[in-house]
Amino acid sequence: MNEMNNRDIIAKGSKVLMHTYARLPLAIVRGEGCRVWDGDGKEYLDFVAGIAVNSVGHCHPKVVAALQKQAATLIHASNLYWLPGQGEVGAKLAEITGLERVFFCNSGAEANEGALKLARKYAKLKGHRERFAVVTMERSFHGRTLATLTATGQAKVQKGFEPLPNGFRYVPYNDFDAVRVAAADDVCAVLLEPVQGEGGVIVADAAYMQTLAAFCRERDILLILDEVQTGVGRTGTFFAYEHFGIRPDILTMAKALGGGGPVGAFMAREEVAAAFAPGDHGTTFGGNPLMMAAARAVLAVMEEEKLADNAAAVGAYLTEKLETLRRRFPVLGQVRGLGLLLGVVCGAEVAPIQKACLEKGLLLGAAGPKVLRLMPPLTIGKKEADEALAILAAALKDLEDNKNEVNE
Ligand code: PLP
Repeated sequence: MNEMNNRDIIAKGSKVLMHTYARLPLAIVRGEGCRVWDGDGKEYLDFVAGIAVNSVGHCHPKVVAALQKQAATLIHASNLYWLPGQGEVGAKLAEITGLERVFFCNSGAEANEGALKLARKYAKLKGHRERFAVVTMERSFHGRTLATLTATGQAKVQKGFEPLPNGFRYVPYNDFDAVRVAAADDVCAVLLEPVQGEGGVIVADAAYMQTLAAFCRERDILLILDEVQTGVGRTGTFFAYEHFGIRPDILTMAKALGGGGPVGAFMAREEVAAAFAPGDHGTTFGGNPLMMAAARAVLAVMEEEKLADNAAAVGAYLTEKLETLRRRFPVLGQVRGLGLLLGVVCGAEVAPIQKACLEKGLLLGAAGPKVLRLMPPLTIGKKEADEALAILAAALKDLEDNKNEVNE
């Protein structure tokens, strides 16, 4: 067991870690199912799930067993060799998506970075030598490497890192005409999230996605879907694009795929994937046997426990209950999202609401300053959903009472 308390862990970390996060004042030291414990032994219901990562719940026994067994057999050997697990995980993902080829990496940013490289290479090989630009969306989020932060349509992520790589063009989300205008002769791909997660939990319109997919196909422009946050069951289908009846040319994923282990991947249909030749792309750690064991276990648990269906059912339940809660608390506005990726637009900054919930034992996310983001493990039931809503209601009531006291 971890001997250190919150104070010690925070003190040690703050001496050495770079100041890239405004971290909350608690250390998480243990997790089980949809609950975590901090260094002082306090229990929390986890509606953040490691930012949409712990989808099969914390320390799922099957994931733990797979990791323990593989750790004692072979952890790493590199992609100079064929490795156990990559073929199985790849075949399962190919069966789910119909995309024949996969490249395993370690994070969402790397998956997107690889997808961008593949799109440029494909265009060149198809004879479109002038094509290198990518149309992306305002308010999108694609990662923190130089190419992916440039693909990200948010100035705050880019500020200070100029000059940015060339070849990205931003258009408003859910606006097909804007894509059509932006897709000049130099464009090789359109990159977007089917639900913008970090940008405020904004769901794409079905007609927009369908028109966009048809337009890309017609112009031989690649449609790249970033499902780093939405993939692996979160929105109630295995991938969010299934809601729209379309299929991407390149698909990226990460977060939930490794059950907490760092696993990312990008997939492509055969013709597109064929643009990569040996030496074009690589990774030391990507797809290592330990992470493939985790991913295999996650995919098996997703299927056995029908977690995408559960995400759809509990997501619908939560949405309905949140709508009811809106009537009691006017600070709560529109409830939006898909499955268990939900946003509640608030009439005020959400930080005080998050803080009040934290004190009462509920971890809640945010997507921008005024949107609460709920993304619990996909294993939650209605009981945990009710528990979270009761804590949220109590926190909102406290905040209202405090405000009234100040005004009196
Ligand atoms: N793409 C999307 C849609 C994301 O939500 C994120 C992370 O939040 C990323 C990419 C970047 O993933 P990572 O932090 O694993 O690099």
